[in-house]
Amino acid sequence: MRTETIRDVDVKSRPVLVRVDFNVPLDKQTRQVMDDTRIRAALPTIRYLIDHGAKVILCSHLGRPDGKIVEALRLDPVAKRLSELLGQPVKKIGAAVGPEAQAAEQAMKPGEVLLLENIRFYPGEESNDPDFARELSSLAQIYVNDAFGTAHRAHASTEGVATFLPAYAGLLMEKEIEALSRALTNPARPFAAVIGGAKVSDKIKVLQHLVDKVDTLLIGGGMANTFLLADGYQVGDSLVESDRVDAALDIMSRANQRGVKLLLPKDVVIADSFSADAVSRAVPATQVPNGWRILDIGPETVESFSQELKRCQTVLWNGPMGVFEFPRFAEGTRSIARVLAELNATTIIGGGESVAAVEQLGLSDRMTHVSTGGGATLEFLEGRVLPGVAVLRTTKN
Ligand code: ADP
Ligand code: MG
Repeated sequence: MRTETIRDVDVKSRPVLVRVDFNVPLDKQTRQVMDDTRIRAALPTIRYLIDHGAKVILCSHLGRPDGKIVEALRLDPVAKRLSELLGQPVKKIGAAVGPEAQAAEQAMKPGEVLLLENIRFYPGEESNDPDFARELSSLAQIYVNDAFGTAHRAHASTEGVATFLPAYAGLLMEKEIEALSRALTNPARPFAAVIGGAKVSDKIKVLQHLVDKVDTLLIGGGMANTFLLADGYQVGDSLVESDRVDAALDIMSRANQRGVKLLLPKDVVIADSFSADAVSRAVPATQVPNGWRILDIGPETVESFSQELKRCQTVLWNGPMGVFEFPRFAEGTRSIARVLAELNATTIIGGGESVAAVEQLGLSDRMTHVSTGGGATLEFLEGRVLPGVAVLRTTKN
């Protein structure tokens, strides 16, 4: 089964409603778009539709207006930036449904682009109200979802509209689904997952799902502390979830049963306080003194993880190896990012902070796929079917 995309439908002269993820950071003073990565990510779909003569009606949320009009969250700055990137006008209106939207749609010519107002100004969006979804869908003949980052939400513009219109994946959505599903269903082996980040509790379902798929599981970051505790080590004042020791033990025993190699940090960088200028040193993971906390993986761990990764054909990475926000504790994360960038393998990065770390290092282009979804990517890796993906048309060929 393949998800149908905009390439599978004739869009010529037809109004197409495209859900994009334009939830970009705006400068508080100037209200300019500070980072246009998400706008750029939607360009292939928008350009394809323009080139094929569609009337392109874009719809997105921005921030959390909670069903009310919030002046600071209007999409005008996004329209301006999109217009610059496309090199053509983008008409922006102050509504997403109703007479203003209907009139704007009727005035459109093929190849033109219209941006609707922040869809979360309407309470019917997040409550996935069928009447609201029907009203929104009445603007178009075809629905395209290109907002992978919001696909884990069943909202009117991500899920409800598909009740009323034939629904297709945009090109970004297609890329995300392909990269992530290939890793989960048919990876080139050996397949390793590097999992880090703050907590076991955030990632427990990801770990449970992946332990059945991978050949090697490398665990770093704060969550490794709970595994170390489960192994009987003392972790001092480290971030740890004592109530998740059973979950950690369960993952370890499942790895063991399946012959999955599970690597934990051999050594760690410890600090005498949680701060950028804390006193720090590397110690074996067995020797974390009381009063100290683990804030990064150590150099020997970096070395052993690297050796393991070098024999892999597919590597999936989610979650930083340490508190990389403090330069002194960023080395583990940075080193793993550099190793992945050098690999001659399929490399997939997912998760808010992990992606930020790779971007900070300027290594995004060296990875096979850097996922644009935070929560959506994690739910995908948990093996869940995302509501915004489930409604898209599929075909056997
Ligand atoms: P992602 O967004 O990539 O999925 P998470 O949100 O799970 O990652 O975790 C990211 C956070 O984990 C980072 O802000 C980082 O500071 C924190 N973290 C990593 N290692 C540790 C550690 N040893 N102790 C405390 N926090 C950690
Ligand atoms: Mg995060």
